[in-house]
Amino acid sequence: MAKHARTTKKAAPAARKAKSAAPVRKASAKAGRAVKATAKAARKPAKYVYFFGSGKADGDRTMKDTLGGKGANLAEMTNAGLPVPPGFTVSTDVCRLYYEQGRKVPAAIEPEMEANVRKLEKAAGAQLGSVKNPLLVSVRSGAKFSMPGMMDTILNLGLNDETVEGLKARTGNGRFAYDSYRRFIQMFGNVVLEIPKDTFEHEFDGVKKAKGVTQDTELTEEALRDVVARYKTIVKAKSGKPFPQDPAQQLRGARDAVFRSWNNPRAREYRRIYDIPDSIGTAVNVQAMVFGNTGERSGTGVGFTRNPATGAKEFFGEFLINAQGEDVVAGIRTPQPIAELEKVMPKAYKELRAITTRLEKTYRDIQDFEFTIQDETLYMLQTRSGKRTGYAAVVIATDFVAEKLVTPTEAILLVEPEALSQLLAPGFDPAEWKKLPVATKGLPASPGAASGQAVFSAEDAVAWTNQGKKVVLVRKETAPDDIHGMFVSQGILTGTGGMTSHAAVVGRQMGKPSIVGAGALRIDEKAKQFSIGGQTVKEGDYISFDGLSGEVKIGQVASKPSEILQVVAGQMKPEASDIYQRFVKILSYSDKVRTLGIRANADLPDQAELAYAFGARGIGLCRTEHMFFGEGRIPIVQRMILADNEADRRAALDELLPFQRDDFYGVFKAMHGSPVTIRMIDPPLHEFLPKREDLMVEIAKLEASNGKAPGLAEKKALLHRVEQLHEFNPMLGHRGVRLGITYPEITEMQTRAIISAACQLAKEKQPVVPEIMIPLVGHVKELRDQKAIVDRVAAETMKEYGVKVKYLVGTMIEVPRGALTANEVAQEAQFFSFGTNDLTQMTFGFSRDDVGKFLGIYQDKKILERDPFQSLDATGVGQLVQIAVEKGRATKADLKLGVCGEHGGDPASIHFFQKVGLDYVSMSPYRVPVARLAAAQAALQVKVGD
Ligand code: PEP
Ligand code: MG
Repeated sequence: MAKHARTTKKAAPAARKAKSAAPVRKASAKAGRAVKATAKAARKPAKYVYFFGSGKADGDRTMKDTLGGKGANLAEMTNAGLPVPPGFTVSTDVCRLYYEQGRKVPAAIEPEMEANVRKLEKAAGAQLGSVKNPLLVSVRSGAKFSMPGMMDTILNLGLNDETVEGLKARTGNGRFAYDSYRRFIQMFGNVVLEIPKDTFEHEFDGVKKAKGVTQDTELTEEALRDVVARYKTIVKAKSGKPFPQDPAQQLRGARDAVFRSWNNPRAREYRRIYDIPDSIGTAVNVQAMVFGNTGERSGTGVGFTRNPATGAKEFFGEFLINAQGEDVVAGIRTPQPIAELEKVMPKAYKELRAITTRLEKTYRDIQDFEFTIQDETLYMLQTRSGKRTGYAAVVIATDFVAEKLVTPTEAILLVEPEALSQLLAPGFDPAEWKKLPVATKGLPASPGAASGQAVFSAEDAVAWTNQGKKVVLVRKETAPDDIHGMFVSQGILTGTGGMTSHAAVVGRQMGKPSIVGAGALRIDEKAKQFSIGGQTVKEGDYISFDGLSGEVKIGQVASKPSEILQVVAGQMKPEASDIYQRFVKILSYSDKVRTLGIRANADLPDQAELAYAFGARGIGLCRTEHMFFGEGRIPIVQRMILADNEADRRAALDELLPFQRDDFYGVFKAMHGSPVTIRMIDPPLHEFLPKREDLMVEIAKLEASNGKAPGLAEKKALLHRVEQLHEFNPMLGHRGVRLGITYPEITEMQTRAIISAACQLAKEKQPVVPEIMIPLVGHVKELRDQKAIVDRVAAETMKEYGVKVKYLVGTMIEVPRGALTANEVAQEAQFFSFGTNDLTQMTFGFSRDDVGKFLGIYQDKKILERDPFQSLDATGVGQLVQIAVEKGRATKADLKLGVCGEHGGDPASIHFFQKVGLDYVSMSPYRVPVARLAAAQAALQVKVGD
């Protein structure tokens, strides 16, 4: 029952699926534009390297396509006079050239870079390679969309055997100088020379052991000199060459390695999950180093202007004294909360607060910033829009409106449509949750209820999930390589790390419940277990946690619907739920700007009621065949199918009619007079019958036990009919309008059921707008044939009831020929609804049921960037939609146009439907809030100039 199973699966739990995908970024809607910008940029820009420093920058924050997010914001902060160490950005155009030219930066770009190095030396007052006054730089990636931890970074570049002595002399701190050098060799060795990190770490641990110390900071200058010597030996042995001493060569190597890291497997995987085009490339930022590790008067930290998990208006972040940049994000040492900074370095703290508050006002968005304090002087290293949970996004956007920082229309653009589906995610039932004792508490990094079987590696998370299990991923700390496992897990639990560690940032971004830094857990990843308070939890044992409170429990806890769903279901008062009120606000802002109508795909009255409560004003697709599976109906349907003459078929249909009429009555009523599109039966009839193989087994068993078993003859007759109905390609077979044409009595029964339900409501003085839809039409004559039946039976039924109701007859456009001849089809249709599921299937020639077998490979090979069944293929399938819109409207200017394929609930596709001028989009009830917001964003963005 392929088609039925598929459509049922799609209709109900789409919200859950969407939640797990929950991309928290703005790329998808803008991807089209990014690609356009790429094409433009390919026409040889005049400039490849952009300087920032001494209060002036070549770029600004609008130039993210060229400078990447980090580069654009460094330029902006520099222009605003903030304390930003000087540097330059090698543009994303160079990354594209690097790949076009066989992984080589064109030689012509080198002089431009060298000129910028000279400028940087001047601004920093130090020279690359100078012993007396050495300039050290960081080399970092920075794409248009932030991809935390996915690409490579190199710090302290410029150090060599001589400049390290210069650094020592200038700072009077030999320990610091040699610690910086060993870090540099390790990063350069790993990133540029591709020597495994472990090789260095092993050597480092060896020295620590030999010296009898446990902390890195306990190593003396002497010991660090020893580490440097050993590292250089490793480099020589593994790369065949000595560690490069020429800083210019180091710089070119580091730059190219960052470009190379754009295509490392984890970055590619990340782009796939978040729908970031591969074509946009990364920029490289080269910036003068400042040091947070020169002693107790230095430090480094990261923070947010508001709480990124809850959205609360509180200064949020953490820092480490005497540490260098990556130590905080890597989650190796658990940092201190930022409030502590006020106590230890009040001046720097005050300045940081003032700067970040200003940044939030300038960008009018929550900022995620990085800073370093070197000898009590504050430097800003980065600012960008902060990643946040769906929950926080809604809280922040509504707070910003209340604070008059943004207008309601601007607030719409601050919330990712998918964030709203996160708000519909379940939580625990408090009574059930209370029953278990708290095993431990960690940092509440990303809210939501997670319950599942413990697994201890990303690979196991994927494997167990593929077996249909629900898992919670438990790790000491996560690394970018773990994202595939994080993606499939119910939640992520780590033993170390702070609120800005990898697990926390990525968990929030994915909308995954996450707890980090649960330090009491003794996690043994190898043995696949952890212990806590004398209890041992092994792989496969159930654990549960609440990502909002940070509490972890051992055992399984049932979850309950979100507050929003409770309010919608009338189980909670709207006033009692703060988040519900904010949710409604964002949607009401959206409704003011959107021009697309929002309908839902709902088959039964309760789904229609939910859709209405979520704000759908109409049903775009009621798949009537789903009603055939209701209680007590399938035997009647089977009798109808088994009938070998029209009279018997009509008798079965007469029995079905009251069921259908009552369902339609319920759906009409739930929509309170908004239009309801009811589609005539669509799937091939065999989907209503048992499987051939199952029947054969049953018959064999009956025959073996007793040749005269009751029911044997019926089973044999059923098998005979199943074999008659067998088709090699059922999706291209006897289905859709073809059924109505061969069995007109089905169309008659369904029309009678629809119109009589409508007449009944009309008699009760209730408004009702039925729209009868014929599926799979490829030829105008198919529609003409069916429309004649519908009109005849509708007239008869209205006469019987003695009332008139207005109804429309239209068609789905889901067969390419239907789209290409839309001018003819429109002669008979009052509306078109694009069935983009079938239209995608037939345009690509991909079976929608089997595409999963090879789609992954297509995506790996970049033949397709996205799943065309999820996000509309604008170039191919979209062209057919556009043709049908134009041709259809040329015949009938007031032709009503909508879409009811899965794409109707996909934000990027909604953008496309807005552009081609559809009247409405229709999606599963749980996607309605997402679509309302996405439609508003589409209306704004299309207006802004697509
Ligand atoms: C479609 O094809 O897009 C559609 C909505 O119909 P179904 O998924 O039921 O084939
Ligand atoms: Mg279809």
